[in-house]
Amino acid sequence: GSADVEYDLVVLGAGPGGYSAAFRAADLGLKTAIIERYATLGGVCLNVGCIPSKALLHVAAVIDEAEHVSTAGISFAKPSVDVDALRAHKDKVVGKLTGGLAGMAKGRKVDVIRGYGSFLDPNHIAVEETTGTSQDKTGQNKVVKFKQCIIAAGSAAVHLPFIPRDPRIVDSTGALELRFVPGKMLVIGGGIIGLEMATVYSTLGARVDVVEMMDGLMQGPDRDAVKVWEKQNASRFDKIMLKTKTVAVEAKEDGLYVSFEGEGAPTEPVKYDMILQSAGRAPNGKKIGADKAGVIVGERGFIPVDAQMRTNVPHIFAIGDIVGQPMLAHKAVHEAHVAAEVAAGHKSAFDATVIPGVAYTHPEVAWVGYTEAQAKAEGKKVETAKFPWAASGRAIANGADYGFTKLIFDAETHRVIGGTIVGPSAGDMIGEVCLAIEMGADAVDIGKTIHPHPTLGETVGMAAEVAHGSCTDVP
Ligand code: FAD
Repeated sequence: GSADVEYDLVVLGAGPGGYSAAFRAADLGLKTAIIERYATLGGVCLNVGCIPSKALLHVAAVIDEAEHVSTAGISFAKPSVDVDALRAHKDKVVGKLTGGLAGMAKGRKVDVIRGYGSFLDPNHIAVEETTGTSQDKTGQNKVVKFKQCIIAAGSAAVHLPFIPRDPRIVDSTGALELRFVPGKMLVIGGGIIGLEMATVYSTLGARVDVVEMMDGLMQGPDRDAVKVWEKQNASRFDKIMLKTKTVAVEAKEDGLYVSFEGEGAPTEPVKYDMILQSAGRAPNGKKIGADKAGVIVGERGFIPVDAQMRTNVPHIFAIGDIVGQPMLAHKAVHEAHVAAEVAAGHKSAFDATVIPGVAYTHPEVAWVGYTEAQAKAEGKKVETAKFPWAASGRAIANGADYGFTKLIFDAETHRVIGGTIVGPSAGDMIGEVCLAIEMGADAVDIGKTIHPHPTLGETVGMAAEVAHGSCTDVP
């Protein structure tokens, strides 16, 4: 067919997957364009995900810490919260980053085509121009021709079908808009996103209930870490309802009346001022006309790919949330680089042994590779070394002696195959465990590595030293 513009490579979606792929491809010499319906680059992560949530979580952590130092003889007045100024601060953080990306796209001569993209056939995408922040369509259409394409269209929050439309009922995007701080808030879904937002809103003054269908909060990490988290966060919540479902929501003028069913369910409907739906995210695979390009999309909307990130159509790749779990920005970026490199004719493959997960709550929970629970489920023989932060000088000095660092070793090779850390900055520390796993390090390698004292990061070395005793190759 006839096209308005033509590129070597077109990337559909400008999230961490999409912009990383486009920039790498441009660096490798491909004439590249990104199609994006949002007004700014950065996707969910920069605009309504990782970054704005962390801007707010940082503020919450400072408030929590300020309260904590009262035990050290320092007390502050109750914080006064200016929601408008806080929102402006968050928007400024996001703006710095999305502005930076726009500059980087320009610098690399990557064209950004604003609009909603949908495949017409295996070499063309129709783009309906969008405008403003509301994604309104202008009626202008453009056909973009490509030699190769990378699908990076991401995911969207799941909305429960029986929940009415009401400005007091939000998903994570709405919660990050921070329009008001409710008196009483319900968080549906006790996963990372829900608990991060619960942390922000409770620190700002809301009373929070959490309802979760499963038998525990945060599905990823070992229960001992979650237990520590729960103890530290007990005062935030009125109720944590496990093995419980939300079954009905009635929006009345004076509040949202919610009915529950299950083990933790109250008998009467409970009244809330705000509800956050954070019961999962679904890939956007079924919303891009993939069938017209011949690209196979799975039942749940994920697009299957190989180690080169190719779909079943060899010149069309897919990366990020749209190809599967874990739906995390750092996974998307690494997949993006592989897809771009392969598209540019380089030999490359996605071959990560592990992908870390982090709850950026207070305290943080970070985990990577095998958990004890997973090893047990698989019947894998492991050795576990747990270093309690009560024995770390720095953790005690920082008021974080409740944390721990745990390493999991293969019982035969003594190589580290997993790690879990709970405590402030756990997410910053888990990178060392990731590197150790990727490098095939054993307990001696980590334990004999001199870590700076006194640091929280030192606990990784100390946990490895705990494991020395059980290693056969220790002199
Ligand atoms: P996305 O970021 O979803 O980007 C897809 C882009 O494609 C979007 O900009 C969308 O507008 C565009 N698009 C989709 N369809 C079309 C179309 N047809 N035409 C044009 N454009 C289209 N991950 C972490 O690793 N760390 C965190 O701390 C973290 N925090 C999070 C907090 C929240 C509240 C949320 C919701 C998510 C968080 N995530 C976090 C997950 C992270 O945001 C995603 O894993 C990441 O954004 C996925 O990147 P992506 O490139 O696959 O897709």
